[in-house]
Amino acid sequence: MARYAEPMARLIDELKKLPGVGTKTAQRFAFHILRSGDEDASALAEAVRGLKASLRLCSICNNITDIDPCAYCASPTRNQRLVCVVEEPTNIDAVERSHYSGVYHVLHGTLSPLHGIGPDQLRGRTLMQRVERGEVDEVILATSPTLEGEATANWLAGALREFKVRITRIATGVPAGSDIEYADEVTMARAMEGRHEMKP
Ligand code: ZN
Repeated sequence: MARYAEPMARLIDELKKLPGVGTKTAQRFAFHILRSGDEDASALAEAVRGLKASLRLCSICNNITDIDPCAYCASPTRNQRLVCVVEEPTNIDAVERSHYSGVYHVLHGTLSPLHGIGPDQLRGRTLMQRVERGEVDEVILATSPTLEGEATANWLAGALREFKVRITRIATGVPAGSDIEYADEVTMARAMEGRHEMKP
């Protein structure tokens, strides 16, 4: 590999840490930034800094937000007693496409014993607390129909069973083994409409 001046090598090293970015791409990005105007380079640096400085997790639902509680949890027009559980913040977009009007709970992952991710590594605690306090009528488990997503839905259904709450699972309109992030509007609407009670 060519030897670069230290600031260039440093930027390339940092860019290489991004998912899907190898040495070649990192070099291309770095040279692009070097050639771009001072204003663009500063805007990029400022956007990265601002991301960490101003974004946090919603204290109610764990969604990524710049205000706490997030816009969904603070909304007076959304049904705050209907909670849709998703794996990642990016899954919220897919559920929104179904014209869902409840609120969310983001787990930030799925159960994955192979990768050492058990219930304690997921962010399920605040959901349990909301249900325990009687603030929720229905929990919709919208984890992906993958092995890990199903295991996660089953675990949550089991953990919530002792409380007086309706527990439903989205229908398998979403193709089995796929991520709900890629479900289109019609598929997602069908999956939500066709949701069924989870049997203990
Ligand atoms: Zn929230």
